[in-house]
Amino acid sequence: MGRSHARPRYIGRFAPSPSGPLHSGSLLAALGSHLDAHRAGGDWLLRLDDLDLPRCRPEHAVAILDALSAHGLVPARPVTRQSEDTHRYAAALAALEARGLLFSCDCSRRELAAAGASEPCCLRDCRTRRPSATDAALRADLSALHPMSREDRSLGAIRFDPALHRDVIVRRRDGIVAYALAVVVDDAEAGVTDVVRGGDLFEGTGWQLALHQALALEPPRYLHLPVVVEPDGTKLAKSRRSVPLDEDAASRNLEQALGWLRQPVPAELRAGDIAAGLAAAAAQWDIARFSGLAEIRLPG
Ligand code: GLU
Repeated sequence: MGRSHARPRYIGRFAPSPSGPLHSGSLLAALGSHLDAHRAGGDWLLRLDDLDLPRCRPEHAVAILDALSAHGLVPARPVTRQSEDTHRYAAALAALEARGLLFSCDCSRRELAAAGASEPCCLRDCRTRRPSATDAALRADLSALHPMSREDRSLGAIRFDPALHRDVIVRRRDGIVAYALAVVVDDAEAGVTDVVRGGDLFEGTGWQLALHQALALEPPRYLHLPVVVEPDGTKLAKSRRSVPLDEDAASRNLEQALGWLRQPVPAELRAGDIAAGLAAAAAQWDIARFSGLAEIRLPG
């Protein structure tokens, strides 16, 4: 990288976990991130978040890549996979360790689930008790960092408050590097300037801001898109309507996602020309149309 202080050009990404095929909720995140990158004249990258081996399947990865390409969503660089190159996570863990920030935590999954939050902090005295590292998760202690705040481009302030977000799991009890650390390391590695993703990931972003700070990395800009939910509030991704996308209906699927994002549907897309439709959709992409919207509730 050069030493220029000029703002790097826009680099965005879509980072699905291959734990299932692409469905209409994840197409919305793929499309939103793609259009935002193209509107800015930037590059859109594709990364498969496949560290959670027990949940990820190669056939889902293949199906996701096929579905994206059937929808005209083609990345600017070769697809990357988190599982391909894990040494950088080890380096990040070593950097946190060198700063004295790591501690092992044996709070049980059940205790943490009962605590409710999306990334609950250590509940007991693990920091001082120092349980054996075998059969324990590894956490980064963030309590001595400075508070941080970053404006999400749609949903308002993302805050990191060390008193509230005291620590976060960086390596799970089963040895797998945790999402919060992997996403920070990978986005930085790829030079991602803009993270555009589903609003279901908004809540955990405070911890990611802190991990950027702890690793002396500049955080990206964030745009969290509205989450599509069923009339009863269940996430579409988890509901019975969440079926794999029909690739033969690609332009209709894209029209639906544009509609959810309150964007006009270009005539080219209605006519079935996906490449021209996406280019036209990028030219008229305007996030003000869904600004502040956390949820899109489907009619019953
Ligand atoms: N892999 C994560 C997921 O599928 C998303 C990662 C991200 O966009 O930051 O939920």
